[in-house]
Amino acid sequence: MHGTKILEEADRLMTVCNSCRYCEGLCAVFPAMEMRRSFSDGDLNYFANLCHACGACYTDCQFSPPHEFNVNVPKTLAVARADSYAAYAWPRAFSGVFARNGLAISIIAALSVAAFIFGFAAFNDRQVLFGIHTGPGAFYALMPHNAMAALFGAAFLYAIAALAMGVRAFWRDIGEPIGMLVDPPSLWQAMMDAGQLRYLDGGGVGCVNEDERPTDRRKIFHHFTFYGFLLCFAATCVATLYHYLIAREAPYPWWDLPVVLGTLGGIGLLIGPAGLLAEKWKRDPATAAMGPLLALHLGLVFSLFITMPYGKFVHGIYRYVALVRYARERRMLGHV
Ligand code: SF4
Ligand code: SF4
Repeated sequence: MHGTKILEEADRLMTVCNSCRYCEGLCAVFPAMEMRRSFSDGDLNYFANLCHACGACYTDCQFSPPHEFNVNVPKTLAVARADSYAAYAWPRAFSGVFARNGLAISIIAALSVAAFIFGFAAFNDRQVLFGIHTGPGAFYALMPHNAMAALFGAAFLYAIAALAMGVRAFWRDIGEPIGMLVDPPSLWQAMMDAGQLRYLDGGGVGCVNEDERPTDRRKIFHHFTFYGFLLCFAATCVATLYHYLIAREAPYPWWDLPVVLGTLGGIGLLIGPAGLLAEKWKRDPATAAMGPLLALHLGLVFSLFITMPYGKFVHGIYRYVALVRYARERRMLGHV
């Protein structure tokens, strides 16, 4: 007996697949499944978070619909994965946000942008909000640096704490001791696999799309997104070091490292029109729209931090943890 109907269905499919084993070369899910004869709720959540939804096992399966076995592993694991995000959410009261993630982000983003505009207007006069500001420290004419750092530091720490509690719940559910922390080879192997998106390739040919032709497009776009996010994070870290170590205040000139990293990351994250917008800002930073644009930027980033533990972002964390366990299991059984 499993906790939900979708886990019952996942158990049925994994039992069929464990007899068939045709797909064992496609990804990590099938070899991980083959290490077991029965599946707990935690095992099935582990498989769900190992699955990269490449679709290859559906296209390759001789038992997929309309066959009476009705084997659809990607779809079943996708639903189980989404359920697991909600189950591991911290605090539990917010688990329902996953189901209405788009609405939650829209409302929090709108309220955050409004709050920053209101705050800029309340604490400054109109000339400051809609004026032209240039040179080091220009942002802080609108909002003091320490207030900005304290607010965003608190939001970021909240997101880290909520994500850490979610990982703790996941790690407990999949029945692993806390030994992950003292197993550097598994951490390194999982980092390499996650960094290359090793299992988002349908066994080597690429993800299967609606026309059933495999391509690497998803993998490429995912790389843009992931490395774009890392570049943006690196830009923030470098700017923080500039501020505290060498007393250089934002905004920085277009050729400086925080702006270069942030611009490349932004292009990776937004590709296309938003990339062009970043180029425009880079070319003409001294616009009278700086106040509202800063409010827009801070409001969006703030809402991103606050909603980060309750949206798609968590998939990277849980998938990485699943890969760590997989690397560990393989090493323990002498498969590598
Ligand atoms: S998805 Fe289909 S072909 Fe692949 S292992 Fe399972 S039953 Fe076999
Ligand atoms: S990663 Fe691809 S091949 Fe593996 S279970 Fe998921 S959809 Fe199937």
